Amino acid sequence: MDKKQTKERIKKLKKVIQEARHSYHVLDKSIMSDAALDSLKHELYELEQKYPEFITADSPSQRIGGKPLEKFKKLRHIVSQWSFNDVFDESEIKNFDQRMAREIGNKEVDYTAELKIDGMHIILTYEKGVFKTGATRGDGKIGEDVTQNLKTIESIPLRLKKALDIVVEGEIFMRKSVFNKLNKKRKRLNQPLFANPRNAAAGAIRQLNPMIAAERQLDCFIYDYSWPEKNIPLSQFEELKRLKELGFKVNKKFHYCQNIDKVIEFWKDWQKKKDSEDYWVDGIVVKVNKREYQNMLGYTGKAPRWAIAFKWPGEQATTALEKVVFQVGRTGKITPVAWLKPVNIKGTIVSRATLHNADEIKRLGVKIKDTVIVEKAGDVIPHIIRFIPELRPKNAKEIQTPGVCPICGSKVIRIKGEVAHYCSNKKCGARQKNKLSWFVSKKAFDIEGLGPKIINQLMDEGLISKASDIFSLKQGDLESLERFAEKSSFNLISAIEKSKAITLPKFIISLGIKYIGEETAELLAEKITDIKKIPQENLEQIKGIGPKAANSIKHWFSQKENIDLLKELEKAGIRIKKEKLAPHRPSEARTGAGLKDKIFVFTGEMESISREKGKEKVKALGGKTHNSISKNTDFLVLGQNPGSKYEKAKNLGIKIISEKEFLDIIK
Ligand SMILES: [Zn+2]
Repeated sequence: MDKKQTKERIKKLKKVIQEARHSYHVLDKSIMSDAALDSLKHELYELEQKYPEFITADSPSQRIGGKPLEKFKKLRHIVSQWSFNDVFDESEIKNFDQRMAREIGNKEVDYTAELKIDGMHIILTYEKGVFKTGATRGDGKIGEDVTQNLKTIESIPLRLKKALDIVVEGEIFMRKSVFNKLNKKRKRLNQPLFANPRNAAAGAIRQLNPMIAAERQLDCFIYDYSWPEKNIPLSQFEELKRLKELGFKVNKKFHYCQNIDKVIEFWKDWQKKKDSEDYWVDGIVVKVNKREYQNMLGYTGKAPRWAIAFKWPGEQATTALEKVVFQVGRTGKITPVAWLKPVNIKGTIVSRATLHNADEIKRLGVKIKDTVIVEKAGDVIPHIIRFIPELRPKNAKEIQTPGVCPICGSKVIRIKGEVAHYCSNKKCGARQKNKLSWFVSKKAFDIEGLGPKIINQLMDEGLISKASDIFSLKQGDLESLERFAEKSSFNLISAIEKSKAITLPKFIISLGIKYIGEETAELLAEKITDIKKIPQENLEQIKGIGPKAANSIKHWFSQKENIDLLKELEKAGIRIKKEKLAPHRPSEARTGAGLKDKIFVFTGEMESISREKGKEKVKALGGKTHNSISKNTDFLVLGQNPGSKYEKAKNLGIKIISEKEFLDIIK
């Protein structure tokens, strides 16, 4: 996107977000899931970071909460109200940490991590230890006076243990058990159900009749202490303890983290444990622990620089529909599949979503280049929920079902009474399946874990129909498939990634040219350096290649679809390996002497050896170990659940080796 397009995009994003927020905060009605809205806000934030000159005072990124409701008395806040920026993955939180360290003069930063309760923010004022007023956040400066309703909440103390003048902040929430009971009752009475507990809590707190608020049995955690400024505790951790001593209900799960790695551990840990609590948690809040550093870091327009919300990725996200590919299945059935700008949903990257058939495309009304809301939930293949009309660009393109088969060029037909389209060539799908199985087999690309069975499955789901499709698959595209748990989808994607570097003979074999076996491929490979520059006229003169094979090669290269395939494979990142060594012969790093000055970096957890042991071994053999990837890195050792180093190494073309390969090297 160029600058002009970015400006236009920012304008549109602001409009959509504002509408969704107005609807949510003011009308108590949700028109978009939190996750989808978060996704849009995140995009806006990123674009504004790139072009700060486009940040305007009315941008949703600069606003907090919503407008106060008309029906309540207004309260002007004594203390400025902030909200946090969101991050969703490890590399983003590490960037945050680096920024913190840099701004306080390259010192180590420690943090306090707290669960982020999915409720409604409130501000309580106490005078001489007596509860005076309670307000919603409103627009950050003026909120609604909901004192009467807050007084119905048992966990909000009406009198503190010390006669202090203070302002505290916290989160009102409805327990899951109460929420479920309430919705059951509403269902019985034919009343509309609450979409989520936050809605229900917000609705209750905004009741003009405090009796109704009382019935909803709300609860409250307090986490921030902002007045008086004197005697403020010296760290966030101390502050939470102090709040507890004053008689507030503080969520017990807050945790001191010595460094950002501990924060990430806490975040991962609670992602697994969060459902066992009786309240909704949508992430953690990470705060620089030392007050001294907090003061040095200060605030931006709407957020403290020293704190951030580290959320768990939701089941939905927004992204761009880049193109629609018509995939041919084994039976010749043609399925439209949306190719998306890769997006993180629930912690893994998704790049495809099924569109099922032409009727579904019509129902969705979606066009190419639209911004779409994609959902990945449970065992269902990622699919498009809807597109966002306000974000449609002028050059959005209608999706057309092709007249001819994208694989074999035969006519596309629609059988009466069926919604699907088919290739009229009955052999098309099955033939393609055989080609693909050959392509990934041991003699060719040798992709571990990708046998004929999986090929069938991937074709049936519309994830692949051409060889080049294999290389753009992402982990999130596979996870919801039967037989693919988190680990096996990760393993397959890693194997595919690794196979991209291939020797020339194997590459030639993968093409499935008639009469070209291993020996012929080796002979051919010795004469050429670039697969697209085969010396066609001299083929017969190469010793060992007969006229039959020569003709077959010539024929293969005369077909447009084959040339297209070569181009697509090149685009997919296939590289011809220079060395002509068979993979099981010793590589240069295999011997101790070869490790001299070689730089190793580790990522993820290893199974049979600790990282420290691994590092020691490398050093003992004359190699070096670094903590981060740079272009000087020689090897990245890939363990389970790798971090951002993996992506970085891939981008820099660093050699990535498995734990097993690493063990072979240091043996
Ligand atoms: Zn066909």
